[in-house]
Amino acid sequence: MKLIDTHAHLYLEEFDNDRADMMQRAMDAGVKAFLLPNIDVSSISPMLDMRRRWPENCFPMMGLHPTYVKEDYKVQLDRIGNELFSGNYYAIGEIGIDLYWDTSFARQQEEAFLEQLGWAAHLGLPVAIHTREAFHVILDLVEKTQDGRLSGVFHCFTGGANEASRILDLGFYFGIGGVVTYKKSTLPEVLQQIPVDRIVLETDSPYLPPVPHRGKRNESAFITEINARLAEIYSTNVESMAQITTQNASRLFKIEVQ
Ligand SMILES: [Zn+2]
Repeated sequence: MKLIDTHAHLYLEEFDNDRADMMQRAMDAGVKAFLLPNIDVSSISPMLDMRRRWPENCFPMMGLHPTYVKEDYKVQLDRIGNELFSGNYYAIGEIGIDLYWDTSFARQQEEAFLEQLGWAAHLGLPVAIHTREAFHVILDLVEKTQDGRLSGVFHCFTGGANEASRILDLGFYFGIGGVVTYKKSTLPEVLQQIPVDRIVLETDSPYLPPVPHRGKRNESAFITEINARLAEIYSTNVESMAQITTQNASRLFKIEVQ
């Protein structure tokens, strides 16, 4: 079985004590590729360390995370843009708007998001979008910007039927993570209207662990729980669910897995 974890912050200090073991567990579970979303200027170097250590498996993204859009966001964007244009990246991410914790930089978040969408269109790279309490703002902005050059994924998708149909119209993918395994999740119902060729798997490690690992640190090996739940929802077996989602992720991020 070959799986791709399309969203995992494996470079964070939560993994400093057992990173090699954690990677081995994931590879033993069938995970062949790990997309690493950047957060801000300070996460670039630990992320690139992982790329050097696992060059066949780790695929870095570049971008400024919305909750890190603060007073210094112009300096951050400048440095992140330089890194993006001079480096080797597979996506712009993670980017978006998050009005859950703090709305005081809402305008700046929007500005940063639009600038980074522009980079994606220019470079022909997909975007990994983070949205919280901001679905309509985000969808309006992406719809206005979409001129056929934008592609990407709504990471940790937990929206409803309306959001799903707008994302389908945009030609984007749905990043499905641990939330789909939660008892109270409404995702299984919404997924009925989402064709399986638009689904990619993600863990968002170290956050959002799937059942039965809730309350613990999440890691990429746990992606098999997400794949298994999706196989149930799509009435298929785990092998074909893995194969389809891996094909989808390979197509979106233009990566090949052995
Ligand atoms: Zn993330």
